[in-house]
Amino acid sequence: MSEFDYDLYVIGAGSGGVRCARTAAGMGAKVAIAEERYYGGTCVNVGCVPKKLYVYGSQLAEDMALAGSYGWSLSQPEFHWPTLRDNKVNEIRRLNGIYESLLTQAGVDIHPARARITGPNEVAVDGRRYSARHILVAVGGWPFLPDIPGIEHAITSNEFFDLPALPATALVVGGGYIAIELACILHNLGVEVTVSYRRSLFLRGFDEDLRCHLRDCLLQKGMTLKFDHNVESITANSEGEFVVRDSDDGVEAYGLVLYATGRRPLVEGLGLEATAVTLNQAGAIEVDEHYQTAEPSIYAVGDVTDRVQLTPVALAEGMYVAHHLFGEGGRAINYDVIPTAIFTQPPIGTVGLTEQEAMERGHQVEVYRSAFAPMKYSFSHKKERALMKLVVDRDSNKVLGAHMVGPEAGEIIQGIGIAVSMGATKAQFDQTIGIHPTSAEEFVTMRTPVTI
Ligand code: NDP
Repeated sequence: MSEFDYDLYVIGAGSGGVRCARTAAGMGAKVAIAEERYYGGTCVNVGCVPKKLYVYGSQLAEDMALAGSYGWSLSQPEFHWPTLRDNKVNEIRRLNGIYESLLTQAGVDIHPARARITGPNEVAVDGRRYSARHILVAVGGWPFLPDIPGIEHAITSNEFFDLPALPATALVVGGGYIAIELACILHNLGVEVTVSYRRSLFLRGFDEDLRCHLRDCLLQKGMTLKFDHNVESITANSEGEFVVRDSDDGVEAYGLVLYATGRRPLVEGLGLEATAVTLNQAGAIEVDEHYQTAEPSIYAVGDVTDRVQLTPVALAEGMYVAHHLFGEGGRAINYDVIPTAIFTQPPIGTVGLTEQEAMERGHQVEVYRSAFAPMKYSFSHKKERALMKLVVDRDSNKVLGAHMVGPEAGEIIQGIGIAVSMGATKAQFDQTIGIHPTSAEEFVTMRTPVTI
């Protein structure tokens, strides 16, 4: 008999935790998982899944606006927020059930309560203590709110998904994925949206051309973008609005103030002080290339390690740990080539190096760029253009990065991501026959580099 109750005790049933628990159990390990909140973690409950459902819901507004140019006559469309919200609630309940049954079917013991680490090989949960040869911390992150007067009046993405009603106006603070995605959803659902970002252009770290192009698209749609803008305080007025004062003494009232100013690792109360686990400056758990912490029996994956806060990355990390501990070793993750999409409207898809990163890394860069009106808008007055861009190393001809703003950018870049991660050259892109008529064919037909 084993000297431990479990071979692996996983804390947190989000993307990384569930994947690791199921995979480890499938390899014969005795596994338990503790979850205090909801199965599927941020992604399923208050992240990717509800967000994408709301993107579909809000995108219909643009499709209906185009329908007339294709000969359809629609009566005045009306939007009913509770229908979208409650359908989302039901869908997520269904997914929670699927996650739970996947764990049960894999033979994982589920402890639906908060777990606390009480030693390198011990976890306390629901008044009981369990010993484990290995512990995996996969507790994720939580929205961060800056400490300004009146911040209690602001909501985060957690509350956004279950709003009792949609406001007439909203201020969205932040310039990252969440702020811009949620701002677009609100705008398309008919809310008058203002985005407040503290620097000169949102989506820091993404390719400059993409950021400028998206800025222009959002302005064209009628969103208000306030850059170099800092909120100083928020107060509630008698009309049920929130009055926002900025650092230039500007004052504006909004029906909703939504903060999307980053997410922090959720380590508080986890009992890490009972171990040798170390945290970095951002409060994230430090791990080595095997996701092992400074306490050899404890591993950590996903948002709690603050490497790349993306579901597919947490899944890959969870899988790695399971194979590392109970299989024949995990497959190392290439963090340099992670395709990602921002589900703005229009969406962004991107993989590999931005033009700026490529130059900083010493590449002689060749840039191919194409901006065009998507065919779908041919009959309408819609001015929105798509942008595609390839960043190529002049010496090796290797495609270092592919970037896009436009319809289906995420779907398109997922495929391009395979080529980029395999080290495809521009010549190989050019040899590929395009699919006509698509937007994606532009990636294999850009022949002349732009001068930079
Ligand atoms: P991000 O870290 O991407 O962005 C946070 C934003 O808030 C930045 O623009 C930052 O500005 C700003 N900010 C930070 N602190 C303050 C402050 N004190 N006052 C004002 N502004 C501030 O976080 P998000 O919350 O947008 O998203 C979290 C993570 O979730 C992302 O990193 C992403 O990995 C993941 N995600 C992925 C999605 C996808 O794959 N489609 C969708 C949604 C989220 P600055 O630029 O100056 O630092």
